[in-house]
Amino acid sequence: MAASPPVQKAQTHLPPLDEVAKALSDGLSKNFADVSACVVDCPDLTKKPFSLVSEGLGGNPRLADVGGPGFLIPTPQKDKKFTFAQIAKLVDLPGAFMIGAGAGPWEHVGCNSELMNNVMIDSNGGIVRNNAHIAKVNREDNSCILEKLTCPQFNLMGNFLVSEGKCCKVLEVKAGKRTGEENFVSCMRKTLKSYYDDKIVALGGVFLIEKGKANLHIMPDFSKEPLKTPEQVNKWLNFYDMSAPLVCVGELVSHDPGMDLRVDHFHCFSDHGEGGHYHWDTTPDDVQYRGYFVLAEYIYRVDQPPQITDLAR
Ligand SMILES: [Zn+2]
Repeated sequence: MAASPPVQKAQTHLPPLDEVAKALSDGLSKNFADVSACVVDCPDLTKKPFSLVSEGLGGNPRLADVGGPGFLIPTPQKDKKFTFAQIAKLVDLPGAFMIGAGAGPWEHVGCNSELMNNVMIDSNGGIVRNNAHIAKVNREDNSCILEKLTCPQFNLMGNFLVSEGKCCKVLEVKAGKRTGEENFVSCMRKTLKSYYDDKIVALGGVFLIEKGKANLHIMPDFSKEPLKTPEQVNKWLNFYDMSAPLVCVGELVSHDPGMDLRVDHFHCFSDHGEGGHYHWDTTPDDVQYRGYFVLAEYIYRVDQPPQITDLAR
């Protein structure tokens, strides 16, 4: 049994939700023609198209930022393996609902893959409900293969919202008809950064791409050559134009207090066999986003890689 990984913990700033909604509404309006952001009771997120394993996002919400690109680049540290139950314990919430983006368990999947986490764990670490998915590259034709994840583990990195999955007040954010260059996530993050400066405001949750198409990547199997430049990384990754409806799970942080945080990370899954890492929509006129988010009270930095890299983010 490997030694337990190091954990750092940061407290976040928790402004009133309606203040965050107002800030997001103003900021998103500079990048989208149709915007609304308000505070609502969380809809039942177990319903389609969300298909999360818990109704709500609330109850001691926190972010887990585990590992990172420093374990992938330039050569993968394949021994960096984590279990969902281990992470729940490390973020002081055994018995947790977890959603978000990561890398799948390569030994179990058979190759490197994208993880869309979506599990409920009991306080003994048992899996109560699991609708997590992985997306991998088909070796035959480079198409996307989306599968349910049957093994409650992941490798290399994970960016998860961890909570009790309870119903609570949430931010409902809608944006359509993109007029600017920012994607939905970076626009929200940069808006919060400019509004809250070096205070740390952290959000986790789920958003739908209800209409349009989006650019997503899937990591293929590990590169035989070391990946040292952005060009090499982009050549190694497989990029796709994928169709709505896509369900995107993950988190974003307005300000990194020097913990090598992944400041935003969302992965998508669907009912139509598509999924992967969200970059941006490719249909600005048609795109329609709708998301539900909670403010995280803490960020737990688990197993920060010794080497910081800007690659593969
Ligand atoms: Zn990713």
